[in-house]
Amino acid sequence: MEVAFELALAAHLETATDWLLARQLGAAVDEPGARVMDLVGVVPSDGVTDRAAITPETIPPLAVEGDVGVGEAVPVADALDCGPERAESVAEHAAEIGFFERGRRGGRTYVRQTARYPDWVDRLVGIENKPDLGRPGDLDFQLRFDAALALFDEVWLATESYVTGAHLNRIPEAVGVWRFDPATGEREVVREASPLAVDEPGVEIRREEPLRTDVAIIDADAKARRRRRIAERAWGKGWRPAGFPGCVNCSATDDGVPECSFHERLIAPGSDCSTDCPGYEAGEVLDVDHEELRDERSPWVRDPSGVVRRQSGLDQF
Ligand code: SF4
Repeated sequence: MEVAFELALAAHLETATDWLLARQLGAAVDEPGARVMDLVGVVPSDGVTDRAAITPETIPPLAVEGDVGVGEAVPVADALDCGPERAESVAEHAAEIGFFERGRRGGRTYVRQTARYPDWVDRLVGIENKPDLGRPGDLDFQLRFDAALALFDEVWLATESYVTGAHLNRIPEAVGVWRFDPATGEREVVREASPLAVDEPGVEIRREEPLRTDVAIIDADAKARRRRRIAERAWGKGWRPAGFPGCVNCSATDDGVPECSFHERLIAPGSDCSTDCPGYEAGEVLDVDHEELRDERSPWVRDPSGVVRRQSGLDQF
């Protein structure tokens, strides 16, 4: 099952690298839902310590992209690129998580950043999982899409299958290939990935028909924005499934991943478990603290001490 493979690979990469990992993130720009990357690895730069100090959650993209700095407070309705109601709610959330300071003056909401948003991403790695190459689904299209758009610095295909020359010939040359054994955690590089041109415009394939292909040209700024949004989403989301089912067949691995003794594999309870499952038998919900594991094993920090660093006082607004 693909989800079990994906969870095993994420657990392996979290231990084997210093990457921040997340599953199932939108990986297109023009039509954000058109491509979903199975696993994303954010390779951090030194700035990750500053990012970790702000908040363990995803900072709303509009708050990062808005015209707000750490100096003088600015009216939120002018600073964020959206309608006034949305700007208010984004500012409220950004203040709750410690990225904005917020105050009222003359009937208007003013904001400023509590800390400069750091440059914390060195590279983005996209990983498409296809444990069984005998059932490739849309694999050819997905990898051609990724290579043409070049939103990730590297794209890898991860599989459990033996990889033949014919398989390699079918996928874009820049895409690297790992053979991964989820039972042993062994990962072999079958072919190295080549760096993609993330700083240049990319081509987003929108539709392919026999005699015609619809594409959108995506400029480098739009790609940079989307890349930051992917990294932020990865920061807040992580890769471990949220919550455990109340089923006697579920236990937790040492990596904090739900495992089912009925199906004999790792599971994502949100999609795998329900009272209709043939193995379901009511039981205790396990209390697994996977945030503690994430904190220990990745650059992510659960309780940053410096979230509110300056006590400016609302009078300064
Ligand atoms: S509900 Fe089904 S998949 Fe989920 S733990 Fe129970 S037996 Fe396994």
